Amino acid sequence: MHCPFCGTQDTKVIDSRLVADGASVRRRRECLACKERFTTFETAELVMPRVIKSDGSREPFNEDKLRSGLLRALEKRPVSLEAMEQAIQNVKSALRATGEREITSQVIGGLVMENLKALDKVAYIRFASVYRAFDDIREFGEEIARLND
Ligand SMILES: [Zn+2]
Repeated sequence: MHCPFCGTQDTKVIDSRLVADGASVRRRRECLACKERFTTFETAELVMPRVIKSDGSREPFNEDKLRSGLLRALEKRPVSLEAMEQAIQNVKSALRATGEREITSQVIGGLVMENLKALDKVAYIRFASVYRAFDDIREFGEEIARLND
């Protein structure tokens, strides 16, 4: 880490402690060249990839939008809010784990469907049909038929 005052690379940590419930580390550093002191914060990168929509435009990942889509699909279904929130967390972790900076909406839709399928088959079909994940009605029928397996 370069000293922000003189630019030298020789700095040392003189104090280090957890802040914000352990979500980040605050470090007090001293420059070995100019003796100036400065503070750094280290936090895990939790940035979500941007979403590439089917028309090629980009938009920030929107958790609320995902949540309302799931709520709609799960309406009147025997699935707890907790289970739904867990599904949202699963999707977000999977997206972060890709390490990609941009990700297509189809990939996100696929992850959501994977999670919904495990939660509730009716919700899964609802979601898939709303997001037109099936190319045609035949494929849709085949998917419904497979649910009875
Ligand atoms: Zn310095």
